[in-house]
Amino acid sequence: MKVAVVGGGWAGLSAAVTAARLGHQVRVFEAAPSLGGRARTVRHPALDMPIDNGQHLLLGAYTATLELMRSLGLEEADCFHTLPLFLRSADGTLSLRTLPGLPAPLHLAAGLLTAKGLHWTEKAAALRALHHLRQNDWQTPRAATVQEWLALSLQPARLQEQLWRPLCVATMNTPVEQACAQLFAHVLRDSVGSGRRDAGHMLIPRRGLSELWPERVAQLAADGTLVSGGPGSLDIVPNTPIRQLHPAAPAGMGDVAGAAASPASRWRLNERPELYDAVLLCGNVPATARLLAGLPPSPAGLEFLESLTAFAHAPIATLTLELSRPLRLPAPMLLLHERRERGHFGQWLFQGQDAHQRLLHIVVSDAQAMLAVTDREALLAGMIEQLNQQLRGICLPEIRRHALITEKRATFLAVPGLQRPGNRTPWPGIWVAGDWTDTGYPAVLEGAVRSGRQAALEMDGQCRRP
Ligand SMILES: Cc1cc2nc3c(=O)[nH]c(=O)nc-3n(C[C@H](O)[C@H](O)[C@H](O)COP(=O)(O)OP(=O)(O)OC[C@H]3O[C@@H](n4cnc5c(N)ncnc54)[C@H](O)[C@@H]3O)c2cc1C
Repeated sequence: MKVAVVGGGWAGLSAAVTAARLGHQVRVFEAAPSLGGRARTVRHPALDMPIDNGQHLLLGAYTATLELMRSLGLEEADCFHTLPLFLRSADGTLSLRTLPGLPAPLHLAAGLLTAKGLHWTEKAAALRALHHLRQNDWQTPRAATVQEWLALSLQPARLQEQLWRPLCVATMNTPVEQACAQLFAHVLRDSVGSGRRDAGHMLIPRRGLSELWPERVAQLAADGTLVSGGPGSLDIVPNTPIRQLHPAAPAGMGDVAGAAASPASRWRLNERPELYDAVLLCGNVPATARLLAGLPPSPAGLEFLESLTAFAHAPIATLTLELSRPLRLPAPMLLLHERRERGHFGQWLFQGQDAHQRLLHIVVSDAQAMLAVTDREALLAGMIEQLNQQLRGICLPEIRRHALITEKRATFLAVPGLQRPGNRTPWPGIWVAGDWTDTGYPAVLEGAVRSGRQAALEMDGQCRRP
C-alpha cells in the first residue's frame, strides 16, 4: 500500500519505520526543515550553535523507543549517559539515590530510607504511598488529581513540596492540583515500581535530539538499508506542510462526500498528484484537528473532532546559559527550589552535553507564570540569582550568552477524565498517532513512539483483512 505519514516527530517516524518494515511504500511529510518535532535540535541565533529545543530525559522503561533505536543499529551506550535513578538538589539539602546492589523494588526502598534531607516520618509516608499503590495494582481513585491522591495517602506537606510536586510537574508538565493521579501512578509503576531495576534508569541524550535517531531514519531510508530485503520503502519530504486532505473517489463514485465515507477511499495531500491508500496523521492535537476539520463531515467525524477540543496545553521553557569557562556540576541534573515570587523559576538544572562543559540548561515546566514576565532582563537576572544562591559551593562563571526557548504547546495538560482517542478515526484510511492518543502515559517520547507503532500495526491489520 502507499502510505502517507504527516509529521516527522517521534510518533510519525516510529509509524513510518514500522509501516515500511511491514512492506508498505511510505512517504513522510514534515512541515519543518528538520526531523524530531517537539524533540529536535535547533540553531538559536543568540548562541549560533545547535542546541535542543528543550532538555529531554528518557527512562530505562522506554522499551519501545530503545527497541526502535536498536533496530536502527544504535547502541544505548553511544546515545545516552545512563544513570541509576537519583534526585539531588543544587543546594545539597535533598539527595536520594536508588541502591544499585539491590533487586527492585528494594533498591528504591533502601534509597528512600537512606535519603538525605527527609525526616523519617516523611520517608515512611513515601514508602507507604508506593506500597499502597503497588498493592492496588497501581490504581488510584477514579478521577483523582495528584493533589487529592497525596492528601488521601497522608503525605506530609513538606514531602509534597520537596518530592512529589517537582516529580509530578517534571514528568507530566501539569501541576499537582490539575494532574491526573492515574497517569502519575503509571509513570511510577513503569519506572520506580517496575520489577526491572534498569526500568528506573535515567537516560540523558549524549547527542542532539534530531541526531539521536530521527536523522538516522532519514539516512537509512536514503541509503535504502532501512528495510532489508522486503518490498517496503520510506522517503522523507521535509519543508512540506500538509494543509488539506482530499478524498479521491474510487472508480464509479463521483462525489467527494461519498468518497470519504467509502471504505475504498484513497487520499491526495495538498495539490499533489499521487494517491495514498492510507494516511497517518502524526501532528499534535491542533494540527491534527485542523486537517480533520477540512474533511467532509459525518456525525462520527464531528464527535471525534469534538473530543479533540477537550485538550489544553502547557508550555515548557528552557534557558540555556553559555559560560565564560567550563563548569562541571556535581551531578548531570540538579533539582532547583522554585520560588516564583522571587523570580526563581528554575526547576531543574542540567549539565549541557557540549564537549567543553560551558553550557547549562535551566528547565521550567508548566511555565505560564514565567512567560508572563515581560521584562526579559529581570527574568534572566532572577534565574541567575537563583543559581548563585542554590548552587552550593560553586561559583557560577560569567554568562557570555544565553538563549531562551519556549515551547508554548510543549505537552497537553494531563488532567483526570481526559478522553484520549485511539489510533483509529471514523474516516476510512485515516489514522492518528502522537503522544496525545490513548497511550496510558502523559505526553512523553515513549508514548509518541508506541502510538506511532500501534497506528502502523492497526493500519496494516486493516488493509490485510479480506
Ligand atoms: C521542552 C520539552 C521538553 C520535554 N521533555 C521531555 C522529557 O524529558 N521526556 C519525555 O519523554 N518527553 C518530553 N517532552 C515531550 C516529548 O517531546 C513529546 O511527547 C514528543 O516529542 C511528541 O512527539 P510526537 O511525534 O507525538 O509529536 P511532535 O513532536 O509534535 O511531532 C509532530 C510533527 O508533525 C509535524 N506536523 C504537524 N502538522 C503537520 C502538517 N500539517 N504537515 C506536515 N507536518 C506537520 C510537526 O512539525 C512535528 O514535527 C518534552 C517536550 C518539550 C517540548
